[in-house]
Amino acid sequence: MRMSRLLAPTLREVPAEAEIASHQLMLRAGLIRKSAAGVYTYLPLGQRVLKKIMGIIRDEMNAVGGQEVLLPILQPAELWHETGRWDDYGEEMFKLKDRNDRGFCLGPTHEEITTALVRNEVRSYRQLPLFLYQIQNKYRDEIRPRFGVMRGREFIMKDLYSFDRDEEHLDQSYWIMYHAYERIFSRCGLHTRPVEADPGAIGGNMTHEFMALAEAGEAEIVYCSHCDYAANVEKAECFTPSVEPADRLEPLTSVSTPGARTVDDLERFFQRPASDMIKTLIYRSGDIVVAALVRGDHVVNPTKLARAIGSLEVELADEQTIEKVTGAPRGFAGPVGLKHCRIIADPAVMTVQNGISGGNAADVHIKGINPGRDFTPEQVVDIRMAQPGDACLCGEGILQGARGIEVGQVFKLGTKYSQALGATFADEEGQELPLIMGCYGIGVSRTMAAVVEQCHDDDGICWPISLAPYQVCIVPVNYRKNEQQATAERLYHDLCAAGVEVVLDDRDERPGVKFKDADLIGFPIRITIGPRALANGQAEVRWRTTGEEYLISLNEVVTHVQERITRSIEDVELACRH
Ligand code: ATP
Ligand code: MG
Repeated sequence: MRMSRLLAPTLREVPAEAEIASHQLMLRAGLIRKSAAGVYTYLPLGQRVLKKIMGIIRDEMNAVGGQEVLLPILQPAELWHETGRWDDYGEEMFKLKDRNDRGFCLGPTHEEITTALVRNEVRSYRQLPLFLYQIQNKYRDEIRPRFGVMRGREFIMKDLYSFDRDEEHLDQSYWIMYHAYERIFSRCGLHTRPVEADPGAIGGNMTHEFMALAEAGEAEIVYCSHCDYAANVEKAECFTPSVEPADRLEPLTSVSTPGARTVDDLERFFQRPASDMIKTLIYRSGDIVVAALVRGDHVVNPTKLARAIGSLEVELADEQTIEKVTGAPRGFAGPVGLKHCRIIADPAVMTVQNGISGGNAADVHIKGINPGRDFTPEQVVDIRMAQPGDACLCGEGILQGARGIEVGQVFKLGTKYSQALGATFADEEGQELPLIMGCYGIGVSRTMAAVVEQCHDDDGICWPISLAPYQVCIVPVNYRKNEQQATAERLYHDLCAAGVEVVLDDRDERPGVKFKDADLIGFPIRITIGPRALANGQAEVRWRTTGEEYLISLNEVVTHVQERITRSIEDVELACRH
C-alpha cells in the first residue's frame, strides 16, 4: 500500500472527547471515527487490525473443534419471551417492531437463537459435544458508552456456545475454551489474567473473566500474593480474622451527634477507628427491603447482597423507604432496635466489640454495641467487597489490587436456556435430556482497544507484530530524489513479493512528518532510505517497540525482515502452546 493512497487521516492534536490513551490514539492514528455515541466506523487500518484479531480467534476456535456459523442480528421477540429475557434484559436491549407490529430486538447476545437452532437440529448424544461460534456485531444500549470502541453500543463479539451431554463433559468444554482464550490473548500480544467472576443475570454457576491488565480498565480485581487466587472484586472472597474478646463489654449508650452522618464524621466525633463502626445501609429489591451491615472500614458489595437475598439486583433505598423502616433520615440507620426490614450482616461485623452505629433517629448514634447481645441478624453472610490488603482465603497471602479491561468471559450455563427452550437430546437409552450448555465471548473490538491501551508510548501505538495493520513502513527521506525513490520502490516491490505487509511512504512530506506518522500508527518495523546509508548500499532498520536500530545491506534487507517477522510470530505461537 502506498501512503499517498491510504485513507489514514492522522491527527496531531489529542481529540478533546477522548479520555484514555487507547481512545485518543485510535482516533489520532486514523483507525476509527465516531458515527454516534458508542457507534464507530473502522477505517482501513482499523479494519486490518480487526481482521487479524478475528484470524487468530478463528484459528484457535477451529483448532478445538469450533464450527463457525452466522446467526441473525435481528431476532424475534418470541424467543426472548420463551426464556423470560425480553423483560429481564432491561433497557440495554434495542427493541423494534416490523411493519406488521411484530417485536424484534437487535441481538445483544445469542443464547436464545443458538439454542433454538440446536433444539431443531440436534437429536442424539452422538452429535455431542457441539461447539458453534460466530463473529458478529452485537447491540447493547449501554447507559454510558465510553472510551471509544472499549464500551460501544454496537461492537464486535466472538461468541461460542457449547452443547454437552452432562456436567462432566461441560467441564471439559469449559477448560478447553479457557485454555484457547489464554492462547488467543497471548497471540494478540495482550497481557491478561483470568479471574473468577459472578455469573450475574446470564445464569450458571461458574465463570471466569479474562482481564487485560491496565490502569484505564473499568474492572477492579484482586489477586493473592501467595496462591493463584484472582477474582473480580464483585465476586472476590477474603478471610475474616477472629479478634480477641474485649476486657469489658460496655452498655448501650445513645449519643447526640448533630450533623455526623458518614463514617469519617463519626471517626472524628468519637475518636475511634472506622473498624469500630457498624455501617448500616438500606437496600431494596422489588418489595424486599434489607439492612446491609458491614464494618465501617468495609464496603457493601451489591452483587453479593443480591445473591444473599436471592435477587438479581439490589439498589440503595430512597429517602422515603429509609425513613419508613428506620424512622430517621439517611445516615442514622443502625441495627439496634431495627424491626421493619431484614438484617443481613457481613461476618466481620460480628467481630466488632463495643461498636458504634446509627440510632434510628435524627442526629443520634449508639455506642457500646455488641453483636449477638444487642441485635441478631437474620443472616450472617459475606456481603462485602474484598479489598487490597485483606487476607486471602488460602491463609498465606494478602490480596493485591489491580485494574483490568474485560476482554473475554467464559460461562458454564447448565440447562437454563435448554430447559426454557426445550432443547433436548436422546442419550444411549433413548431418554430425552436437556442439553448442558456453556457460552464463551470475546470482545473483538474491545480487544483491539485493550492492545493499544497496553502497547503504546508517548509517540503512538506499538503494535505487536501479530496485529499490526502493516508490518513494515518504508520511508524514503526524500521521495523526489531519483535514487531514493528507485530504491524504495524496488524494496517495496520485493517485500510485497516476499509476502510482507508493507506501506511505502511515497508522500512529498518532510521526513519528520513521515517519521511521526509511522510512530503514531505504530508499524513494527520502519525501513528508512536516506542518502548517507544509500551511498554505502544500506538501509536503516528500526523496531518501533524496542527502539532497536541498525544499518543493513540492501541486498539482505528483504530476507532479514521476512525472517525476523516469521520468527517473532512463531515464537509467540510456540510459547502459548506450552
Ligand atoms: P461489561 O461487564 O464490560 O459490560 P459484559 O460482561 O456485559 O461486559 P459479556 O456479555 O460477557 O459482556 O460479553 C462478552 C465480551 O464482549 C466481554 O467480555 C467484552 O469483551 C465484550 N463487550 C461487552 N460489552 C461490550 C461493549 N459495550 N463494547 C465493547 N465490547 C463489549
Ligand atoms: Mg462479561
